Amino acid sequence: MNTPISVAIHKFTSCDGCQLAFLNLGEQLLALVQRIHIAHFAEMGPINPHAKVDISFVEGSISTAEEIERIQTIRDNSRLLITIGACATSGGLQALRNLYDDGGWLSSVYASPQHIQSLALVKPVADLVRVDFELWGCPIDRAQLLYVINDLLLGVTPRERRDNLCVTCKGEQQVCHLVAHGQPCLGPVTRAGCGALCPRFGRGCYGCYGPAPSINSTALANRLQGLGLVPEQIARLFHGIHNNAEPFRQTGLTARQQDKTP
Ligand code: SF4
Ligand code: SF4
Repeated sequence: MNTPISVAIHKFTSCDGCQLAFLNLGEQLLALVQRIHIAHFAEMGPINPHAKVDISFVEGSISTAEEIERIQTIRDNSRLLITIGACATSGGLQALRNLYDDGGWLSSVYASPQHIQSLALVKPVADLVRVDFELWGCPIDRAQLLYVINDLLLGVTPRERRDNLCVTCKGEQQVCHLVAHGQPCLGPVTRAGCGALCPRFGRGCYGCYGPAPSINSTALANRLQGLGLVPEQIARLFHGIHNNAEPFRQTGLTARQQDKTP
């Protein structure tokens, strides 16, 4: 009998929402554990953070010196390392503090900031170690997660989603909120993967799957300005969940700069 593939799920600075995508697999998770061995997954039960495994899934951004050491150990112990979710792939919401280089956020949030020992900048995992595959989203989509695991079990390299959300949205025959209703929507620049959830429920996309490859976010910012949004509103749209991912980061900064130009 073949040895089952060993898997670890690790948490860094994050909200646990992407780990829940594993638990929310429900019956499919029960079928999966017949085919894989889960060596470490604190949220589910098994705890062995130093296990040497075939695949490590990593949730969360790197925010402390201890996390730098831990991610390097995990890299050494893993044949493949896959980041799951916005925090791990681009830094997540907590990277908003990277936009403020004066450290003023510390004293505005904490009564005793001298006790906080965070890194100066929040970092995505790929800034510290080699990453073999990235699953985007906030949280990740559990169907996508299952596809990736099944591909790896079959010995196939998982396919990266490279299309933007509009492709999915039009495939769902949605009336375009941007074109038909003049509502802000980040779909033209956002990576597909969520099944156009927000447009299907009557609102524009807010970019939680991060920037798609080969996009023109400046053109979308200009279009949003044409709809009547002021630069600060445009900056806030781009500086959402993937504020630290290029080109969202730069497009938001450019809009904010326009706001300051007399
Ligand atoms: S990507 Fe979103 S859902 Fe996943 S851990 Fe980060 S904040 Fe939570
Ligand atoms: S609603 Fe948004 S995602 Fe859908 S087609 Fe229009 S711009 Fe694209």
